[in-house]
Amino acid sequence: MTILTEAPSTAAEIYATARLGLYIDGEWRTGAAGRVFDVLNPATNEVIGQVPRAETSDLDDALAAAERAFPLWRDTSAFEKSRILLKAVALLRERAPEIGRLMAIEQGKPLKDAVTEVTRVSGTLEWCAQESRRLYGRIIPTDVDTSLTVRYEPVGVVGAIVPWNFPAGSPMRKMSAAISAGCALVIKASQEVPATVCALAEVFHDAGLPKGVLNLVFGRGAETSEHLIDSPATRLIAFTGSVPVGKQLNARAGALMKPTIMELGGHAPVIIAADADPVQAARRTSAAKWANAGQVCTSPSRIFVHESIAAEFTAELVRLAAELVVGEPLAEGVTMGPLINEKRVEATEHLVQDAVAHGATVAFGGERLSGEGRAEGGYYYAPTILTGVPLDAEVMSEEPFGPIAPITTFTDLDEAIRIANSLPFGLAAYGFTESASTADILARGFEAGILSINHCGGSVTEAPSGGVKESGLGRESGPEGVQAYLITKRVSHKLR
Ligand code: NAD
Repeated sequence: MTILTEAPSTAAEIYATARLGLYIDGEWRTGAAGRVFDVLNPATNEVIGQVPRAETSDLDDALAAAERAFPLWRDTSAFEKSRILLKAVALLRERAPEIGRLMAIEQGKPLKDAVTEVTRVSGTLEWCAQESRRLYGRIIPTDVDTSLTVRYEPVGVVGAIVPWNFPAGSPMRKMSAAISAGCALVIKASQEVPATVCALAEVFHDAGLPKGVLNLVFGRGAETSEHLIDSPATRLIAFTGSVPVGKQLNARAGALMKPTIMELGGHAPVIIAADADPVQAARRTSAAKWANAGQVCTSPSRIFVHESIAAEFTAELVRLAAELVVGEPLAEGVTMGPLINEKRVEATEHLVQDAVAHGATVAFGGERLSGEGRAEGGYYYAPTILTGVPLDAEVMSEEPFGPIAPITTFTDLDEAIRIANSLPFGLAAYGFTESASTADILARGFEAGILSINHCGGSVTEAPSGGVKESGLGRESGPEGVQAYLITKRVSHKLR
């Protein structure tokens, strides 16, 4: 594992060019009370910017703007909606290198991955823009003198709340589906990574999205989210974040009978069956595990490998971890950056220490990274592989959301599936096998909304993603992802 750094001042200088503001009713502004949040560079722990904090009056302005814009946008033709959104797609692709740079600085993922994230979200928006022209209703055969149809209409103003780990991906999933469905929205994005989402709002603005359709705010999590839920203006709440916060927000929305889309945490099991290719399984698990330093809701985070191939699998996983280049996100060749903040480093440290105290062995990593030019105060933690992890170690039940790969062995596949399903989570799950019948047992057996066999695939624009059990409600992406922003209206018309 190599550690690289680049002069921190470079990142600070680049970030100083970012637009950071509240985007309300088509205009950029500061918060009514002039309060701000500091933005930190996770690679250095330096303040690199300040983003305005919305007061209640700013939120009310945003909600009122969305309410005014909604009927106009709803009634805009599908062709015009699609035209504006496809213009935004083109701008996003043009600006991907700059937006990716800002994302790498504020969030810590390597530049290449950040630019890829922006390019991918342009694909998400493109797909939704096309889908906006395919929101067909239904004609139901009935009595000859009656026309019976089903219409799909946008639900209204959406309140959206997103976390920091995919600064473009999380907001764009909500923006693209809601806007293409004909909704207006007020989105509260993470104040830890504001430049990326501001750049996305700029793209929509420059593409000609009418004012008020998209409103972007930053504010304290609980108070801002609660205000968006409680407002009579919002008709749907779309949230991505942790299970405990999701439960709170869902209960609050439920009390008002507001529908929600809840994309929550997971703790993805990987089962590597006895007949799997252990080297290929290690390569594919490795690629997914260290992406975004493990700060991914679908990150493979409980690895169950058949005892007969465990040594080969672990050796390859360790070999690949040693090849990672951990360092400053803008530096050439870096493959893993810092974690987002000190809290995540401490949580990672705690889970590793707890696993070791329960008898696990550190096969790789297991420490904060220091020295070798690492910038003072950066939130670096080594990619960490733990073996022989007992099920009562905290890391086997608490979502690590960091660079930890805990491995345990099994002998009986049914028992491995039972243990994999024993947590209240059910977001992603992965299985490796060369046998069609074992693949079928895994596909049927896993309790998860997103299942991949012989790879650890992430979410894709064309297909629905979401969790079962406490990992969430509803689906994002694919036709289901747009449908989630529509209401169903049955119209029966007596013709004679
Ligand atoms: P979080 O739940 O702490 O915060 C998410 C958002 O909710 C933030 O914008 C935050 O400000 C806001 N929030 C609202 N009410 C809050 C309250 N009472 N307290 C704190 N925040 C409140 O989650 P996080 O740590 O920012 O993000 C990581 C979590 O998100 C992980 O559990 C991860 O698995 C999950 N996640 C899920 C998906 C998915 O698609 N299922 C994608 C990305 C992340």
